[in-house]
Amino acid sequence: MTAADRFPRIVLATGNAHKLAELRAILEPLLPGVELIGYDGPSPVEDGATFLANALIKATAANAATGLPALADDSGIAVTALGGAPGIHSARYAGTGRDDDNRALLLSRMADEADRRAHFVCAAVLVAGDERYEVEAEWPGEVLREPEGDGGFGYDPLFQPSGEHRSAAAMTAEEKNAVSHRGTAFRALAAQLDA
Ligand code: IMP
Repeated sequence: MTAADRFPRIVLATGNAHKLAELRAILEPLLPGVELIGYDGPSPVEDGATFLANALIKATAANAATGLPALADDSGIAVTALGGAPGIHSARYAGTGRDDDNRALLLSRMADEADRRAHFVCAAVLVAGDERYEVEAEWPGEVLREPEGDGGFGYDPLFQPSGEHRSAAAMTAEEKNAVSHRGTAFRALAAQLDA
């Protein structure tokens, strides 16, 4: 059975336009014959303690609201010197919901830190009634001392992936998706749906 036999239509539950574009680019080639429908319904309260718990909350709410299989992710950046912060609070780290405010706060918290290690995390979940598929992936790297590059979104301008000499925001969308936490997580999830 292919994913298209099991799940001919899937809603992608995210209100973040950048994430939606990345998800479509990653999933379309992996799930031929599956209609991927953007869904930006009322946001459920993300009060889970982990990335997986919050992804499950979003996918479950979208599945209940639409009656369709729903895919969601929860993601963020975990900085070693900050004890894993901002972690699951990445989207609202500075309290305004603005990417530039979040980046400014991270830079100020890291101003005197020599240990620059960080990793992005992405938990990806599909919920279809009682069925659940879950994966989590990481993308290791370092926090830069100033923003670089003008692609991507969120913390991309401050994140230099391991083995790279440029920020995630200086990578093309294809380059980023090939190695990122979101690309790795959704490729693994798509493989489970096809198994
Ligand atoms: P979510 O919508 O609750 O998963 O929030 C994820 C937040 O983590 C985003 O708003 C970004 O601040 C950050 N984030 C997650 N993935 C990425 C990425 O690929 N690049 C840059 N920032 C990211």
